[in-house]
Amino acid sequence: MATNAILSEEETMKATAKRTADPTPARRWQAVLDRDSSLDGTFVFGVSSTGIFCRPSCPAKRPRRENVKFFDHALQAEQAGYRACLRCRPKAVDGNPQSALVRAMCRYIEQHIDDRLTLSLLAKEFRLSPFHLQRTFKSVLGVSPKAFTSRTHADRCHRQGHLRHPIRQRR
Ligand SMILES: [Zn+2]
Repeated sequence: MATNAILSEEETMKATAKRTADPTPARRWQAVLDRDSSLDGTFVFGVSSTGIFCRPSCPAKRPRRENVKFFDHALQAEQAGYRACLRCRPKAVDGNPQSALVRAMCRYIEQHIDDRLTLSLLAKEFRLSPFHLQRTFKSVLGVSPKAFTSRTHADRCHRQGHLRHPIRQRR
């Protein structure tokens, strides 16, 4: 059923391995100092004094080196307790901007499958317009977020053996 999703995940992982081939902290720090946008998506940096994480090209004032911690992915920075910067929106450029973002959306949908997920809630979580979110999602996975959500829910019901459980309609 979810062939597209699996393929895209594998491709994303391969791409990630290639991109982060030489992620030494010194190089990353230099990229931060240079606001090197070509390295956007290859890592993010968290600033312990503010609790915020940014992409390399963030226009904000440069932090002190001793307060900076590097992460390969926005999700790792979040797990470490950092919040995404509102200026550079590092969650929107984690790796291949589109597939990594959609991968994060898929994970979010899977984790919140029992909530009443709507397109607007998803859009708010990922700081995108519902229109942009839907278009990006569909361009990467070939299905709408709604279809993906229904499918994820159906897969889960199937796994749990609740074959007759009706799939709730989601807006
Ligand atoms: Zn920033």
